[in-house]
Amino acid sequence: MSNNISTQHNFDTIVVGSGIAGLSAAITAQQNGDNVAIVERAPPDERGGNTRYTESFWRMKNENEVSEDFEDRFAENSGGWPDLSILEDLVRDKENQPAVLRSLGVVDPNLIATIAEEAPKALKWLKTFGIKFDFLPLYFLSQSTTRMGPIGGGLALVDALGKYADEEEKITWFYETAARTLVQDNFGSVTGIKAISKNNSPLELKANNIILACGGFEGNPEMLSHYVGAQAQFIRPVSRGGHYNRGEGIKMALDIGAAPCGDYGSFHAQPVDPRSKDWEPVVLNYSYGLLINDSGLRFTDEAPALVDSTYEAVTRIIMQQRNGLAYAVFDKKLDDIHNWNATVRTRVPPLESNTLEGLAEQMKIDPAEFLNTVTEFNNACPEVNTDFDPLNPDGLRTEGLSINKSHWSRPISTPPFRAWPIICSNCFTFGGLKIDENARVLNTEGDIIPGLYAAGEVAGIYYRTYTGATSVMRGAVTGRLAGADAALRRNN
Ligand SMILES: Cc1cc2nc3c(=O)[nH]c(=O)nc-3n(C[C@H](O)[C@H](O)[C@H](O)COP(=O)(O)OP(=O)(O)OC[C@H]3O[C@@H](n4cnc5c(N)ncnc54)[C@H](O)[C@@H]3O)c2cc1C
Repeated sequence: MSNNISTQHNFDTIVVGSGIAGLSAAITAQQNGDNVAIVERAPPDERGGNTRYTESFWRMKNENEVSEDFEDRFAENSGGWPDLSILEDLVRDKENQPAVLRSLGVVDPNLIATIAEEAPKALKWLKTFGIKFDFLPLYFLSQSTTRMGPIGGGLALVDALGKYADEEEKITWFYETAARTLVQDNFGSVTGIKAISKNNSPLELKANNIILACGGFEGNPEMLSHYVGAQAQFIRPVSRGGHYNRGEGIKMALDIGAAPCGDYGSFHAQPVDPRSKDWEPVVLNYSYGLLINDSGLRFTDEAPALVDSTYEAVTRIIMQQRNGLAYAVFDKKLDDIHNWNATVRTRVPPLESNTLEGLAEQMKIDPAEFLNTVTEFNNACPEVNTDFDPLNPDGLRTEGLSINKSHWSRPISTPPFRAWPIICSNCFTFGGLKIDENARVLNTEGDIIPGLYAAGEVAGIYYRTYTGATSVMRGAVTGRLAGADAALRRNN
């Protein structure tokens, strides 16, 4: 075991992380003539972070255009209630915008427009590695937008791009090595990183450009408690890949004065079965039944609209319940819904009983409280439910409850009764760094930090509700922008 710091000097660009953002950045820089290294925390057979496990849907209506609602949805979710007196300077050209605006924690509309414009180009570029895109089935029975995905999902992206990087050793890899700190020269330019390799061996690498593509902080309980709050103890990454993302990319850049962007207190939430060992074991049938917390009470409208556009908000409310747990409860009528199994990806069977009391016992919930909740709900359901339509918001709404259910309300009355436990999982965190349209990181004074780029989850672009099926796209686009700009710096 050695504590000597080993230093290597010979890279134009170092990319930290090898998910879609890191691979896109590294290969683009390499294709533009850079000598590139990738520093990756995982061993080779687990490279690829979250990207390795994603279905990788892209919010597109065809291979040439993003979805109709793309920019509107981003605009709705671009910040909290930003100061309009500062935002009004967005109409000025970049050079004349005040620093307070350039570094403001809201998403620059120009960046979103760039992602929309660049997404089809990124998709075409990915096809040059043999990847094919199509409209693929996913775990919603109906959707509020259009989504396409690569055949084989994110793993196909990691495998195809990784194969290219490996062939003829086009890119130098440092596996099982975690970047920790950025190195700067006296002029403020970033010139390298300090990292830690196996057996606690420090390593320092130098380069003209550092591209941070090492994900969010979904795998870092300390940062999650700090930013998300005490209930963070009940959430976990939705896949194994998320455990590798511990927020160092964000932290090391903030430490040298980078401007934050994206909602640090929030993350993309998905409802999963805590009993499952699979990745992304979602339980997305709950809008047809009831959600009950471990006090035996309903606590939210289970069906405010189509589940694909509302599950994130509902799942965050599950996180707020005691023990961060809820149960999705159904009676036999769940089987009326054609293909409902597609909405449930846990392979652990549900709890099941022929009586509601028996189900309560299995859920370890007070039977009297549970029976009372179900009876109240049943009495509030519409008497006639022949309009029940699982594919569209059908307006079958309860009346008179303190929390009504807006659609698909039918009594829970016919055995067998079933229940799936649900917790909130963390797909990826929203807080990150503010970047410009070339993925260059801005400092808190609104100026570019020379030599520093952020791509993928490290670049914060989400507030409130995740604009679904845009994170892999963000990674590919910002990675390519960073790689191309980094290579330009070598030439200038
Ligand atoms: C199950 C699942 C389903 C999803 N579905 C979709 C979807 O359909 N559409 C969509 O757009 N998005 C989806 N997402 C989200 C999306 O996949 C990710 O946000 C995106 O792939 C992240 O890409 P990235 O390159 O930024 O990070 P990652 O792919 O997570 O890669 C980060 C890499 O950095 C490495 N790393 C971390 N820290 C360090 C360090 N300090 N030093 C060195 N290396 C480090 C990690 O090991 C990892 O390899 C899904 C995610 C999951 C898990």
